Amino acid sequence: MNTSNTTITNEIKCSICRADIKDRHNVYQSSLKLGIICNLCKQRFSDEDIEMIINIFFAFGEFFGARDRSNFSIEDTILEFAKNLDEGKVNFHSQNVRMWHKVLTHGITPKEFLKELSAFSEQEL
Ligand SMILES: [Zn+2]
Repeated sequence: MNTSNTTITNEIKCSICRADIKDRHNVYQSSLKLGIICNLCKQRFSDEDIEMIINIFFAFGEFFGARDRSNFSIEDTILEFAKNLDEGKVNFHSQNVRMWHKVLTHGITPKEFLKELSAFSEQEL
């Protein structure tokens, strides 16, 4: 009756995008040892970003690209962030982390976001 215990699940999922990792020789382990990263994520994020992203998903759940990005607006997110800070509702750090969680769950990379952010700030000046 103990046959179920002998079945080892071989499934490894990427800590960032939850993709199945089949080729184990091709994985990247984050320096904090919190996660295993697929090749695609290793390529699309910098090492620094990877640590930040893993920490965020570790704290808030979900994963990269979990939500539909078609009705997500980077501009609205930035405006909301600025507005909340102005009103002094929250501290910068927690607000910042929440914003990143929102951005990442919609499948937007930090690189992409920062590009939009700088374009937006230039426009405002
Ligand atoms: Zn991945």
